Amino acid sequence: MNDEIPNLTAFDEAALDEAFAQLERQARTASAAIGDEAAVEAFRLEWLGRKQGRLNEVSGRWLKAAPAEAKKLLGVRFNALKALVEQLLLTEILLDSDKDLATEAIDISLPGTRRLVGAEHPIIRTLNEIVSVFAALGYSVGVGPEVETDFYNFESMNFPPGHPARDTQDTLVVASQERRPQRDRLLMRTHTSPVQMRTMESQPPPVRIVIPGKVHRNDAADATHSPIFHQVEGLCVDTNITFSDLKGTLDHAMKALFGSAVKTRFFPSFFPFTEPSADVQISCIFCGGKGCRKCKNSGWIELLGCGMVDPAVFAFAAEKQPAYDPKKISGFAFGMGVERIAMMKYGVSEIGQFYAGDMRFLSQFA
Ligand SMILES: [Zn+2]
Repeated sequence: MNDEIPNLTAFDEAALDEAFAQLERQARTASAAIGDEAAVEAFRLEWLGRKQGRLNEVSGRWLKAAPAEAKKLLGVRFNALKALVEQLLLTEILLDSDKDLATEAIDISLPGTRRLVGAEHPIIRTLNEIVSVFAALGYSVGVGPEVETDFYNFESMNFPPGHPARDTQDTLVVASQERRPQRDRLLMRTHTSPVQMRTMESQPPPVRIVIPGKVHRNDAADATHSPIFHQVEGLCVDTNITFSDLKGTLDHAMKALFGSAVKTRFFPSFFPFTEPSADVQISCIFCGGKGCRKCKNSGWIELLGCGMVDPAVFAFAAEKQPAYDPKKISGFAFGMGVERIAMMKYGVSEIGQFYAGDMRFLSQFA
């Protein structure tokens, strides 16, 4: 490798200058040819390597062969050459690390990776809007399990045995419970009403709660039906609660949800857990009551059910909380379907679009 180191025959200053100048040129040429990290290391080994490095060779061969009077002259030149090689090496190391930095550099003028901002699902948004209307009236939020017992879902809500709503056509029941008493059998709740009973059992009146949540029915999916949907139910119990409190509360709530021009009207209806019961219609939000396709030219849209809490329901609550004495307290309850309201508010014609997870649909609500 170091064959080019010639033996010196003359040790006068001119000969030494010439010999070292030649090595200096070789070192400069070699360092100028360095292209990458491996070449830097090769240069270091070739010139400064402890065993076969060229400088080691020079010091071994030339210094040993030099007569005593030339050793100093040679030593000075040797040290100068060594300092030069070290300087060249250091320069190359720095240049090489500059190259590394250049390839690792970040262009801070590039736009960043944009993350999608999450948004409320239209169902959850509608549900929260409904809840907030009642929260402003002093209602708190009640929640309960989606897997319920027959007692809370039906019996305590005054669905007598044999009531059509208990039919397995409508209710999804948990399998293999024939050995259990009927009231303990588990099912997917068909409405959020069981939370009314759970709330009354856990606290004496007064009660003002809204109950948002998911409910399950054995319904075939079509444009307006889904086996899983959402309800918001409300319950108000206190002394001297009357039907006019119910009307005033729901009229206010519908105006808060759909605008102050909306009117409400109440029709007699039937629910097992309320007596009397009513269906509530609001003036059509699309035509203002003149009549259009959406309201089937009636000017009204049916939106929710309500009524005064049936004394039989209070009697079930009184088994654990005697203060629910139907002779001393009264109350009203109401319930509405969140999907139906969201479909109206946002002009959605297929209920299934809410659950399909299609970003093209959902991003409209972001
Ligand atoms: Zn209309």
